[in-house]
Order: sequence, then C-alpha cells, then structure tokens
Amino acid sequence: MTVYIDNHTFHYETENLVRLFFPDEKIIIEKEIPENTVPPYIYTSMNINDGNAHIYVRVNTEGFDEADVKEIALSDKDFEKTAERTMAVCLYKLLCKLTGTTKPWGILTGVRPIKLFRRLSDKNGKEYAESYFRDKLLVSDEKIRLSAWTEENERKILALSKPMSVSLYISIPFCPSRCSYCSFISQTADRAKKLIAPYFELLCRELECTAEIVRDKKLILESVYIGGGTPTTLSAEQLYILIKTVRDNFDMSGCREFTVEAGRPDTIDEEKLKAISEGRADRISINPQTLNDSVLEVIGRKHTSKQIYDTFALARKMGFAHINTDLIAGLPTDTAESFSATLDGIFSLAPESITVHTLALKRSSRLTLQGHSIGGDSGAAAAKMLELCSERLPKAGYEPYYLYRQSRIEGGLENTGWSKKGFEGIYNVFVMDETHTVIGCGAGAVTKLKNPYGSDLTRIFNYKYPYEYISGFEEILRRKEQVRTFYNELS
Ligand code: SF4
Repeated sequence: MTVYIDNHTFHYETENLVRLFFPDEKIIIEKEIPENTVPPYIYTSMNINDGNAHIYVRVNTEGFDEADVKEIALSDKDFEKTAERTMAVCLYKLLCKLTGTTKPWGILTGVRPIKLFRRLSDKNGKEYAESYFRDKLLVSDEKIRLSAWTEENERKILALSKPMSVSLYISIPFCPSRCSYCSFISQTADRAKKLIAPYFELLCRELECTAEIVRDKKLILESVYIGGGTPTTLSAEQLYILIKTVRDNFDMSGCREFTVEAGRPDTIDEEKLKAISEGRADRISINPQTLNDSVLEVIGRKHTSKQIYDTFALARKMGFAHINTDLIAGLPTDTAESFSATLDGIFSLAPESITVHTLALKRSSRLTLQGHSIGGDSGAAAAKMLELCSERLPKAGYEPYYLYRQSRIEGGLENTGWSKKGFEGIYNVFVMDETHTVIGCGAGAVTKLKNPYGSDLTRIFNYKYPYEYISGFEEILRRKEQVRTFYNELS
C-alpha cells in the first residue's frame, strides 16, 4: 500500500494507523503523488489558505474510493495536535468503512495509553480523560474502563518513586531454544555455550561498576529485574552469584522488589530455585504462555503443560510467595475455548500475578517467515480471549495494574499485567511509565536516564549480542560513566 503524505508532517501517525489495518502489508511512504496514480493508495494532504488548514484524506483501493475533508482554524490554540488528530480520525473512519472493522483503541497507536490517560486526568479530571478517549480518540468503552482501572492502580505504585529512585535491569540473553513467535535477540544456549561463562563474568563486573556509580550519586535502588532471554539458562551457581553480586554491591535497604524471570519451565529445577531463594529474590515469573500442549508444540516450546504444573508446585513447595505467570492471547491454533481452559488451569495454580500478552509478530520471527499473518480472524480470536480475561480475572481476584501496546500486535490489542492486591510487579510499572531511571546491564540492555525534574529521557545502549558485549566491554564501561555525568549535571 502506498501512502502519500502531501504538505504535512504527520507521516509517523499516518503510517502507524495504516499498519493497524494492514499489519502484514508493506507500507510505502511517498511525498508526491504522480499523475495518473493507480490504486491501491492512500492520499493525505494539508493546505493552508484563508486562515484555515484544509485536511484531505482519500482512500482509493480497487472497488473503494472515498474521501473526507475537514477544516481547522490556524488560530486553534493547539493547532498541530488538532490537525494531526483530525487527519487521523478522517483516515481511521475511511479505513473502518473499507475493512468493515473498528479498532479497540481507536486512533491511538502509541505504546503507553495509560500514561496519556493519566496526563489527561491530571489536567482536567478522570471524566475528562474518559470523554477525551471516547470522543476524540474513538477508544472503545471496554478499553476506556480498562484504562481508568489500570491507571488508578498504577498511580499508587508511581507514588512510591522519589526523585533519586532508580531500578536495575539485568539481561541474560540466552534461551534453550527459539520460540516461533519471538524476535528477541537471544542466543540459543547450545550455540552460545562457550559465551556464557565469559559473558557472565563481565556482567558481574558491569554490575560492580554500576553499583559504584549508584552509591556515589546516592541513588535509591527501588527494584531489580533479571530478565532475558531466559535467566534460568544460567547454572544454579551462576544464578546465586549473580543475585549475590547485586546484594553485595548495591544498597538494598530501599529495594522493594527483586524479580528473577525464571521463564521457561524446561530450564527450572530445584537447585536453581534454591539458588534464587537463597539469594532472596522475592518474585519469580514462570511463563507457560499456554497450557494447551498442542499450542506449546506449535510455538516451538520444548516442554509440556505437565512440566508447568510440576515447576509451579515445586516453586510453591520451596516457599515462593509471589509467582507471576505470562500468557499469550492469539497464539496460532489456540481458540477462545482452549484459552479459557488455560485460564482454568492457571486459576488452579493461583499465581499472585498474571501478565496477559497479545501475540505481536515482528518480521524476523519464525512464524512470520513461515507466512503466519496477524489481523482478520486471528485478531477477532485474540480479542475474544482478552474479553474472557476481562470477565474472568476480576472474578478470580485480579486487577489490572499496568498495560502497554506494541506494533504489529494481533487485533491492535494490548498487554495487561493483572495482580492480586499487593502483588503488583512494581518494576513493570516504573519501566512502562518511565517514572525514574532504569539502569540496564548486560547485552541488549538499554539504560534510560530520567530527568527527575522534567520528562526528558537520555538513552545509553549496550551492545546487542553477547559476543559484541564481550569484545567491546571496555566501551560498555565507558558508556556507563554517562550515568555519573548525568547526575553530576543535575546537582
Ligand atoms: S523464551 Fe522468551 S526470549 Fe527466549 S525465545 Fe522464547 S519468547 Fe524469546
């Protein structure tokens, strides 16, 4: 699909909106429309005259050719935003008509809708935020309810953060095998076996250097998250050393949460759980994605649902009091009925929190390369699964506490963290809201330095791949010094 952007700067929003309706199509952005252009194409323009901006949108595909025109006064106090939104609404309505569908989040394409909801609430109250979502952004009533509820719970967590608070993310970019929907830059442990030991050693060094800066600048460590990849591809001894390295080097007195994403059940055993427990990490995540064995096979997981139940029981026996489970709605071959059966199984395990993702497929995932597409019927199935979550999770005592969206996500839907009261994963909220600085250590980790007195963020990137991280480690340490410089300049 070719999208023409004539005389305006809203190409980012326009492209994202078109992608929402055509997630699998290649979208080509052009500036000028040649004479005698043949469909399919979308043409958008903004022309100024007589003190007004004239917005024009035309969707011309085979068998459908409609246009919309709107006028906005240049004197509008928020002219740029109003013009962008007006163009998006025109385009959205035409695309709804063309495809015979609407999108649950209307014209919203951003990753953090709750952050926007909070900004609007802070400005003019919750009712204003709700009406803005409904009338200006065309968000569905169901998603408005979800946004308001999530925002209410998030707000209590955000209040815990202080100006000098930071959180720590530690990356273990290895997995036992590659799941078919994944585009994450992780190395399968078999191929990367030789890299794990040197990587691990340098990661501990990076943590020591980072801790020295955190101490020096008197930053308050609020939460720690060891993620990946699959952290439990490390040995029990490495896991214990890693957690101990954090505890020995950082001041943990203000730390409210220490998560180890145990991840896939086929990497978890008693010894590793013991190492995590002795290291006093208090939150683990066991991520089944589904309890349907045939779906597990389709997504390339090398474990059964029985292993999930067994691992969960083991973790409980060993005293873990906060276990999160990740699920994915919209997995290939899964249906609303079997997803509902997965929920039954998950409720029987009674995890303290459940993160319900919706399938998002990047171009590099195996499923995409095999020709699996998103949208259409599979989008409707994923929407049905999320409806089930909205119905059943509250009845089982879970409330939404954080939410985000991704590009190329099934049905234009969302990912939501649900938890029992008092078991919210606070790191997730801090990261998603960009509340305070998150310092990333390890390959692929990104440090986001948040100005506590403003909204600006400065990013520091570590090298993506373990082999680059190992060979360029001195550069990693040099970049980490930017954390110190950033806080020096603040004081
Ligand atoms: S375990 Fe997670 S990071 Fe690893 S391949 Fe599967 S989805 Fe990707």
